[in-house]
Amino acid sequence: MNSLEKAKWNKYANDYIRKVEAFCQREIYKKFKLSSVKLDWSINRRSSRGGMYADGPGINIAMMGCCRDHKGQIYRVYEYSSFNDDPDIGGFYTRRSYDKLDMVILHEIAHALQYYSYKINRHRCKPHGPVWKNFYSRLRNAFLNYTLENQHDMADEYQRIKDEIVGIKRDPLIARAASK
Ligand SMILES: [Zn+2]
Repeated sequence: MNSLEKAKWNKYANDYIRKVEAFCQREIYKKFKLSSVKLDWSINRRSSRGGMYADGPGINIAMMGCCRDHKGQIYRVYEYSSFNDDPDIGGFYTRRSYDKLDMVILHEIAHALQYYSYKINRHRCKPHGPVWKNFYSRLRNAFLNYTLENQHDMADEYQRIKDEIVGIKRDPLIARAASK
């Protein structure tokens, strides 16, 4: 990806992060503030992070794995397998290229909120436990879930496209016809 495209994704991510942060201040914790936001484009970076850093709550997003132009084609975004099928906080189908990045940002800000709440409440729970799930589901419903198309229809369409691709690979005659 060239630097102009990266700059476009960075601008989008920063605007989105500030919008979510403003929501957190309005609806959850008035004094919550992300003191560190890092958008990391290293090729080796696989997983994003969110939590408490030396100077306060922060997130660090592995951009390479989240930013891809799908050109309007349907794709599946996956969450952790233990809650991938959850209608509120699980994976989903979409055509919008920014949705995967949105999901990862919301996931990591929910971790930042979680660790912030530990500090305030002097109580801890598991990284993907009920406290985190509650924050994540609030953010998902406020910012992402209502924008998604009907997931049953999307799943059918995705399967149809997948079957077509498999069919083309199996039948060399169709493959030749398709490439013309
Ligand atoms: Zn997580």
